[in-house]
Amino acid sequence: MTISAPDDPRIGLTPIGSMPQVVELEEGLVRILAPNASPMTLDGTNTYLVFGANGAAYLVDPGPADSAHFGRIAAEVESRALEPRGVVLTHHHIDHSESAHHFSREWSVPILAGALEDPGSPAILVEDGDSIEVDGQRLTAMHTPGHTADHLCFMLPSRWALTGDHVLGRGTSVVAYPDGDLESYLQSLLHLESSGPRGMYPGHGPELSEETAGDVLDYYISHRMYRISQVLEAFSDVRSSVADAVRVIYGNSIPPGLFFAAELSTRAAVAMLVQRGYLQMAGDDDHYVRAGAGLQKLLDELVADRRRPV
Ligand SMILES: [Zn+2]
Repeated sequence: MTISAPDDPRIGLTPIGSMPQVVELEEGLVRILAPNASPMTLDGTNTYLVFGANGAAYLVDPGPADSAHFGRIAAEVESRALEPRGVVLTHHHIDHSESAHHFSREWSVPILAGALEDPGSPAILVEDGDSIEVDGQRLTAMHTPGHTADHLCFMLPSRWALTGDHVLGRGTSVVAYPDGDLESYLQSLLHLESSGPRGMYPGHGPELSEETAGDVLDYYISHRMYRISQVLEAFSDVRSSVADAVRVIYGNSIPPGLFFAAELSTRAAVAMLVQRGYLQMAGDDDHYVRAGAGLQKLLDELVADRRRPV
């Protein structure tokens, strides 16, 4: 029994490198693309300015400390006569948060985030369901742990969601052990899916339109189930290591620079499979063998999770 790889519904939509540097996506929302493109950050980090009719504004995921990026953000704030009220983070990863303290100091505003691990600026903890209001525009937080434990998505009044690294504009998100947790990640995908976003503004890559948003969420869930089943199938009754499993699953299809990420994401699947009783440790924490029920039961379990209301 095996399942096949699902098809990515976004193939060919927006070629990499073709995103505009600055674009107004809807009333009260501007996206500024940071110049930090890489295999991990795709086109670069998406920084968003969310603002109300009265000019009050929040900067979401300020991105890397880069003077050209700072210049573009300042130009938008100035030309639109915005009054920054805070810096909001979807999660603590450096490609999103590096310049948070810079803007916090420059504008004398707090940092709003799902975890406050790095004091040094005034900070406000954001929890599931919290709303950040500006006149006519609003960010409603949804705690979506998985990519990181502190990850937040934000729903706008337009019912489009800012998704950070929970859902990306291209490719799939890395859920890397140990901060990444696959069990939580799957639940958070179901949480976002059940909130019914009309479209998504990701932390990297182009926006996901009303035509594709539902299909992309479906693809993300199917892709993750496919990867989990691959990880289970890469192990047998004979003990093997996580690195062996990575080679079985990915073969030569990944660039050597991304092997590390593939290993950490495989490790996250292993942790979930151990937790659910499908794998057990064999001797040390790098080797595992199959335990208990097989793939069919796992797939049945995952499908049942999906049918349960979140
Ligand atoms: Zn990122």
